[in-house]
Amino acid sequence: MTSVIGFIGLGHMGGPMAANLVKAGHRVIGYDLVPEALAAAVRAGIEAAGSAVGAATGADVVITMLPAGRHVLSLYRDEGLLTAAAPGTLFIDCSTIDVADARTAHEAATAAGHRALDAPVSGGVMGAEAGTLTFMAGGGAAEFTEAEPLLAAMGKRVVHCGAAGAGQAAKICNNMILGISMIAVGEAFVLGESLGLSHQALFDVASTASGQCWALTVNCPVPGPVPTSPANRDYRPGFAAPLMAKDLGLAANALRAGGIDAGLGLRAAEMYAAFADGAGAGQDFSAIVRAIRERSGPTGSSTDQNGTTA
Ligand code: NAD
Repeated sequence: MTSVIGFIGLGHMGGPMAANLVKAGHRVIGYDLVPEALAAAVRAGIEAAGSAVGAATGADVVITMLPAGRHVLSLYRDEGLLTAAAPGTLFIDCSTIDVADARTAHEAATAAGHRALDAPVSGGVMGAEAGTLTFMAGGGAAEFTEAEPLLAAMGKRVVHCGAAGAGQAAKICNNMILGISMIAVGEAFVLGESLGLSHQALFDVASTASGQCWALTVNCPVPGPVPTSPANRDYRPGFAAPLMAKDLGLAANALRAGGIDAGLGLRAAEMYAAFADGAGAGQDFSAIVRAIRERSGPTGSSTDQNGTTA
């Protein structure tokens, strides 16, 4: 069944996601504060609204893909999105936001007579363009069933994780594993360098032994062993370090709120926040290996095995 979809936030992720909904035959009315983002969306078949409220008016479903929780809550509560939408509209927020903000957004939407789902994604800009994202959804079963075909038009896997906020919870737990494991892999390579171990030898062993993980086998932080990893293109993202810092910051908020004894998660959040503020601002998150090498002793701080000065 085709739907009329209001799509707000047509940036790096939202633009291609909305385009895939158009390709699947839906009518998409879009809005973004940035005129260039809106113009690019129009070229992909999205109809431009004059405001976020304009995009929501008359829509069956309103999808948001925004930078942070404050943008979602501001649109929902202060900028009239919930009042403009027809009663019973399904609000799907695909942004990555605090679990607490996601729950507040659900409450605001349902209090205004609507239905809501949090459905953050994994897969990055390439996944958004190719329609191969993974969606992690939180909300009621009926809302999930209604949203599933729309999410499937933008992704290859759609998982119902539980009640309101469960999608965001799954996202930050997954990315906390990823952030910690990328630091672990980076530290192991720098330790290996100091012990005279080649990158290839460490990779050949760890990738087929118990150190195996995505941070090593797909996004290997040193050039050579995995030719497609960002390390081979001077760490151009990929998954940018500031986005990892953001997700770990959300995980740290939830860890503190829950009183969880998670020293590694909190430390990873600190390390990525400092890295994203400095040299990592425009780099893939795997470039944290360079920061580890720089802070290490003379053996590690000379050159990496690609001849690049660390
Ligand atoms: P982006 O900054 O490219 O896009 C966000 C868009 O929202 C911008 O174009 C901005 O102008 C627009 N916007 C902000 N406030 C608005 C408002 N009030 N009304 C209309 N438009 C508004 O960010 P992105 O990379 O597309 O990421 C979007 C979300 O997806 C973030 O929460 C991010 O954490 C998450 N995410 C990103 C990636 C990635 O690889 N980029 C991967 C997974 C999840």
